[in-house]
Amino acid sequence: LSTLPKLPLFEALVSHDPNSIAIRHVESGKKFTYGDLLQQTVFMKEKLLNDAGRDSLDGARVTTLVNNGFQFASTVLGIWAAGGVAVPYQTAFPAKEIRYITRDTKPEFSVFGVEDWKSKQEKVQEGNSGKCVKSLIGVQTPTPGIVDTTETIELEDSVKPTDPALIIYTSGTTNLPKGVVSLHKTILAQATGLQKAWNITKNDHLLHVLPLHHVHGVMAGTVLPLLAGAQISYAYPFNAEKIWNRLCNLEYQKGLSPAADSSQINLFMGVPTIYNRLLEVFHKYPERQSDYTSAASKLRLAISGSSALPASVKKAWEKISDGQVILERYGMTEIGLVLSCGLPVETRIDNSVGKPVPGYTVRLGSLDRSSVVEGADVPGEIQVKGEGVFDHYWDRPAEVTDKEFTEDGFFCTGDIAHRDSDGNYYIQGRKNIDLIISGGENVSALEVEATILRLFPDVKEVAIVGLPDERWGEIVAAIVHYDKDYLKAHPELKGLSLRERLKDSGELAAHKLPVKTTVSKEMFTRNAMGKINKKKLKEEFFSNVL
Ligand code: ATP
Ligand code: MG
Repeated sequence: LSTLPKLPLFEALVSHDPNSIAIRHVESGKKFTYGDLLQQTVFMKEKLLNDAGRDSLDGARVTTLVNNGFQFASTVLGIWAAGGVAVPYQTAFPAKEIRYITRDTKPEFSVFGVEDWKSKQEKVQEGNSGKCVKSLIGVQTPTPGIVDTTETIELEDSVKPTDPALIIYTSGTTNLPKGVVSLHKTILAQATGLQKAWNITKNDHLLHVLPLHHVHGVMAGTVLPLLAGAQISYAYPFNAEKIWNRLCNLEYQKGLSPAADSSQINLFMGVPTIYNRLLEVFHKYPERQSDYTSAASKLRLAISGSSALPASVKKAWEKISDGQVILERYGMTEIGLVLSCGLPVETRIDNSVGKPVPGYTVRLGSLDRSSVVEGADVPGEIQVKGEGVFDHYWDRPAEVTDKEFTEDGFFCTGDIAHRDSDGNYYIQGRKNIDLIISGGENVSALEVEATILRLFPDVKEVAIVGLPDERWGEIVAAIVHYDKDYLKAHPELKGLSLRERLKDSGELAAHKLPVKTTVSKEMFTRNAMGKINKKKLKEEFFSNVL
């Protein structure tokens, strides 16, 4: 008889049909049932406890460097079942990040399940002062589909909902990444809210292309479908051609034959860069476009988040998918995904991230955090309350966590937004980076970026930043990457100033027009979640004025 903790996630897992498929691997075509997943979870729990020589991991931190897919899901579930706190690494982490996170986490255990684990192990140990490191390589995983699912699993009172479960590091966009500690009940509340918002059921099948060291990939992409009894097809690292092939159930390389795994995908989660890459590949193969369109039109939901979705990308996707409107949502490591457009297509308004996800109270606060902002179109800082809000920042003095909460318990996100009269939120950007104050007037970098991308098809990427200025406090500056092919086809645009063109459009007030513009020859460097680091970008292009 095997035991697992009596936590709602495990209760859900044992209630699903053990013969239904939980996880597929797109590359190999392997399939694993919910029975397989439970079996492997129990195995991982027992292996961890055995290796540790303990009855419970008792909140010990366990880093995981394992492949996306069955191995990842069963490892994290195994850590949770053993009472540990999972700290997932991305398989492609460079040595520097492994070292940073390991030094910061000070893990008691590390689990490896990647082929080149030996070199990575050294990195972890360097940052780890030689503590216990375990490898999963060579450890048996069940042969898919033939696991004995008749063995009963008993749920026992061991791990509590209020025990810590996960440390995820923030993206490090504004500072060094911080470890965010979430409890079991935090993750459950985050996933349950989204299950309601997006009506996720066992009939859903998600194509998962995200890295697994962010809430997006772990909570929304893995815990949520498993809670609902849905299927997850993991395809990582992201490759746009392979993704189209999988969506189409076709193997183009082998001459348009059906793919080995043809179960219909109906959910997709991406970041704007991912949709951009899929659009590029769509245009690269005119002969495949009717297949691509038919596949994209079959998606029940195509979701985007992590950074602002340009309306141009949304429109282009709608065109190539026979009317699929991407659903945008907003979230952060500390709170999960808290705002989302709705299921009815008409709620997916351009540049809006929709309304609060069930379980969260969301409001706007004044920038000094002393009062609440009411009314339509008034900007304020997004503040969030709910069981889905994290517990504390790992290994930081309590004040570091406390100073981000208001007296009445709302977490202050540092993101600025406004609401329309229907209660839909529109992100304006980060308080200290995207909110530029020029001559006393507020400028939202995201608004200026969205306008430029909407008006000028020759602009492939643009970042708006604030530069210090004696007279105005700050001035608006733009870093632009142009589409060379488009400029070649439209020589009349050559040499025109971005500022003049924007001014002529009449779309933006004078104080929002970029005063300085510089051209980037390359596409911007983005992290695994498609985010750009504006601080770094600013230093690179405007070091002379900083
Ligand atoms: P750090 O906190 O280390 O500086 P980070 O804030 O980028 O990094 P994450 O928690 O991964 O780390 O990202 C959350 C942030 O991503 C949000 O605070 C917000 O600024 C941005 N974001 C998320 N979704 C959206 C969206 N739909 N539109 C615009 N911005 C978004
Ligand atoms: Mg942040």
